[in-house]
Amino acid sequence: MSTNKSLKKALMSLYGKGSMYQLARIDEVIAVKLGKTYAEYEKTCPYNEKRKKSMKAKYAYHHLQHTYEEGDTTLENGAVVTVLEHAFIHSLPREEEEFINRELRVFKENYLKWYKEYTTGKSSWDDEER
Ligand SMILES: [Zn+2]
Repeated sequence: MSTNKSLKKALMSLYGKGSMYQLARIDEVIAVKLGKTYAEYEKTCPYNEKRKKSMKAKYAYHHLQHTYEEGDTTLENGAVVTVLEHAFIHSLPREEEEFINRELRVFKENYLKWYKEYTTGKSSWDDEER
């Protein structure tokens, strides 16, 4: 199994099956902040319906910090998105992509806090520095 493939599996067992882009509701956030959405990209992208369907059914491992920026291929540095969402993310200028990457990181952090709270009964939200 390739590293990306096993990491995708590990990420999904930790954060839930499916796309983190959808789980984190990122389209709702970027519609306001960037004025563009994946939903719009889906309508205007250069792929035909058959290709889009297959790209939406497959998942990609997305590096939150790119490998050319010395980002590692690890659980910490990865997010699971569909192949079509991945194409959208990489169609954006780097600084706009970074906005999405930040949202994905926040989702991962919050999810783990929630999960810890759920499994231990202890809240980690209160001892956070502001
Ligand atoms: Zn990527």
